[in-house]
Amino acid sequence: MAGHRDRWRLLVSVAVVLLVAGAAVQLGRGGVATASGRVGRSHAHRPTPAGPQSSSPVTVPATSPTISTTTSTTTSTTTSTAGLVHWHGPVEGLFLHPLVLRPRLAFTDDRLGHGFQDYFVTAREFRAILDQLWRNGWTLVDAQRAATGHVWVPVGRKPLVLSEDDVNYYRYFEGRGLARRLVLDSRGDVRAEVRDRNGTHLSTSDLVPLVEAEVARHPDFSAQGAKGVLAETGYEGLFGEHRLDRPAARARVSALAARLRATGWTLASHTYGHIDLTHTSLAGIRADTLRWQQLAAPLLGRVDVLIYPFGARPTPAGVRLLGVAGFRVQLDIDVRARRVAEHGVVVMSRWHVDGLAFDGHPRELRPFFDVAQVRDPRRP
Ligand SMILES: [Zn+2]
Repeated sequence: MAGHRDRWRLLVSVAVVLLVAGAAVQLGRGGVATASGRVGRSHAHRPTPAGPQSSSPVTVPATSPTISTTTSTTTSTTTSTAGLVHWHGPVEGLFLHPLVLRPRLAFTDDRLGHGFQDYFVTAREFRAILDQLWRNGWTLVDAQRAATGHVWVPVGRKPLVLSEDDVNYYRYFEGRGLARRLVLDSRGDVRAEVRDRNGTHLSTSDLVPLVEAEVARHPDFSAQGAKGVLAETGYEGLFGEHRLDRPAARARVSALAARLRATGWTLASHTYGHIDLTHTSLAGIRADTLRWQQLAAPLLGRVDVLIYPFGARPTPAGVRLLGVAGFRVQLDIDVRARRVAEHGVVVMSRWHVDGLAFDGHPRELRPFFDVAQVRDPRRP
């Protein structure tokens, strides 16, 4: 049903123009390379990895417990398939954005507020969504395993790849009731830092800590410790650290990335400039990719998943180019679970979870959750 995807893409393209108005200044000044020129240096791309990291999960002996618990409440990953069964069907995907903590500040009656209503969900909504995903039999699985086609789930449960786009806490979030960055607390757990009238404090009301809590409550909600995919652009830094020229900020991002990886999260590129990969030239894609990798590689380590901004698919040559640059798993937007392997790249689809989907596609979302039950009463 390409129509859904195309309509979403069109809508989101318009919205991002509005939402990223502030960022546009940054883009202009920062000079995201485009089709217009500054290209070349493709030889500087990082070496091509052999393929998705977990290419042979089937051979792992089933000896250790499925979930091991660290000193904190966060669960870590395992390759064990004990108690799990091989899944043969398609793998569904859902994606969200950082959560709205204070709807009154986000859902204002202006263009930015309408953007938040359309493309974001609240923490209250996401809590209810997680609960229903669990009760409806879904289990989080690793994106890279899903890409290989070797997915394992607890008996009677269905696999789901969860992803979060734009985990950058852009400057336009400021004062709108969202978190301002992800940080590690004193126990090493991931928390959302919130700044409001009462000062700065750490919150568990954001996607990563809420997923961790759900998995801690229901270990079968995660297979092999998998949590989700977190996609980062680069033009305003990473994870809400906007000043990556500062050593302390770089150290925070490195530690955060290491912790996320160790606890089942997959890190992904969302391109440097949130570019439209359908309409950007190959030279432009190459330049953007180089810029993202120069920023992120020293801090995030190897990243081989890329999420298309706007769900805009590149041409086959673009898919290949991104694959050669190391992004062997690429995610787009569709309402059907789809996995296509070509040119050494696996492209998988995801379904958007946001206000537009609540209003427009409650029936399609029904296998995952009941929109009427999860909808935040504070949503206009
Ligand atoms: Zn995005």
